[in-house]
Amino acid sequence: MHTLDRFAQDKLDELARRNLRRSLAATIREDGIWVERNGRRLLSFSCNDYLNLSQHPRVKQAAKEAIDRYGAGSGASRLVTGNHPLYAALEARLAKIKDTEDAVVFGSGYLANTGIIPALIGRDGLVLLDELSHACIHAGARLSRGRVLTFRHNDVAHARALLAAHRAEHDRALIVTDGVFSMDGDLAPLQALYDLANEHDAWLMSDDAHGLGVVGGGRGSAFVGDAHVPVPLQMGTLSKAVGAYGGYLCASRRVIELMRNRARTLIYSTGLPPSVVAAAIAAIDLIENDPDYASLPLRKARAFTRLAGLPEAQSPIVPVVLGEEDSALAASRRLEAEGFLAVAIRPPTVPAGTARLRLTFTAQHPDEAVARLARLVRDDILAH
Ligand SMILES: *Cc1c(COP(=O)(O)O)cnc(C)c1O
Repeated sequence: MHTLDRFAQDKLDELARRNLRRSLAATIREDGIWVERNGRRLLSFSCNDYLNLSQHPRVKQAAKEAIDRYGAGSGASRLVTGNHPLYAALEARLAKIKDTEDAVVFGSGYLANTGIIPALIGRDGLVLLDELSHACIHAGARLSRGRVLTFRHNDVAHARALLAAHRAEHDRALIVTDGVFSMDGDLAPLQALYDLANEHDAWLMSDDAHGLGVVGGGRGSAFVGDAHVPVPLQMGTLSKAVGAYGGYLCASRRVIELMRNRARTLIYSTGLPPSVVAAAIAAIDLIENDPDYASLPLRKARAFTRLAGLPEAQSPIVPVVLGEEDSALAASRRLEAEGFLAVAIRPPTVPAGTARLRLTFTAQHPDEAVARLARLVRDDILAH
């Protein structure tokens, strides 16, 4: 065997031995909650399409009209000729929702985080991350070439101790956290982190991939509860509750202008297809005009945690932590036999020893299906 294939095969064998091999399953999604896989129809509790907007007729129609008007692709980077007029409309909407001066849209959430962080922090800088921050935040922090330190999950005292010890050694400092944690569904202590950042002349950035559209009246994690936390860097994605694709940053006019000039993932990557941007605008219209609908995923998740005897959900994401990889895989197969799709999440996506089912609830999940899933998880999956 060629050394290249030998290398690939050895790596794959090792992953298989550790129950960490992954595979892609062709999945047909034809409405908001049902999927077809391996010839079976399953009720999905694994999509991030919390409001089922990827399948909404108005959203699909907006995408079709944009193709007819502007074509299938954008043709170049936004800095060259890819900046079709839909971008400005979408950015104005995002800035308004997040109550910031301006916004900029990137090709994806991953591209946003790997562009924003290096545009703010260089070799002499410090990036402080919650240890459970999304993989692309870690990637962006490393790309900055600054010093990267992690604080224990949601532990503001630990973050404070790290800043007290190291802030003075660096020219600039950035604190980054998920607003809603992608694999645990809990919320970051944004107000405390905001105060901490200000005490140490650090900048706070939140990743609201799982917040926009579903918490804080649809406006995201900085708007949960009574007080709005004026997080100066609010990043997020258009691929989850918004049902389309793309990433964004909402911030001050000057910071956004800096991104347009310095974020390499914006400058050196082709603009999003017009249809995707049009779909996002249509979805945001729906979110803004129907806050009751936006509250449904969290209400379904809370009904589930109540019936399953789990701690109350803080977002539409509910982890059922099972420990070892084989336990999570077995639980997923067990639920699949009952007609539910609940994909097992394993390391390195989650820390070793915390393999889990990660359940996501959406506006259109029928209450009786939520109740049946809760009984199965309580009496079958967790009882073992
Ligand atoms: C999904 C996700 C991303 C990446 O967003 P994409 O648009 O899918 O690239 C970033 N951060 C968090 C917290 C996420 O869950």
